[in-house]
Amino acid sequence: MAYDSNNIFAKILRGEAPAFKVFEDEFSLAFMDVMPQIDGHTLVIPKDDAETILDVDPQILGKTAQTVQTVGAAVQAAFASPGFMVAQLNGSAAGQTVSHLHFHIMPRYEGLEFKMHAREMADFALLETHAQRIRTELS
Ligand code: 5GP
Repeated sequence: MAYDSNNIFAKILRGEAPAFKVFEDEFSLAFMDVMPQIDGHTLVIPKDDAETILDVDPQILGKTAQTVQTVGAAVQAAFASPGFMVAQLNGSAAGQTVSHLHFHIMPRYEGLEFKMHAREMADFALLETHAQRIRTELS
């Protein structure tokens, strides 16, 4: 299917929609999920018109994976989580709701479950403090 350039992450990449950004380079962008399943829930996206992992330029995918690794370490440190999860959904049947390839980074703690997927908008001031904690770890 053709890439829909009106999806919200494409608008964030073009600067047409706001985001709590934590990292950006030539190939990728990382920012806070506005409906986090847990504090620190961060998204990493490639700078490529790709809906799923099958559509992305492999070189950009590799660079984006490096960003997932770097930002994952920073999220884990910023939220003092013993583990973290990386999730990536392809197609609506898999639960994908935004049609631009993205990787979820979510801190994990023993016995602490996630909130529902993409349901509850976070407080923006709190999201900014979370973003700042991650930026501090990356600096
Ligand atoms: P998916 O279901 O496609 O794997 O995940 C999409 C994610 O994007 C969800 O976790 C949802 O909370 C998040 N999301 C949806 N709209 C926005 C938005 O406008 N800004 C940000 N930062 N995240 C969004």
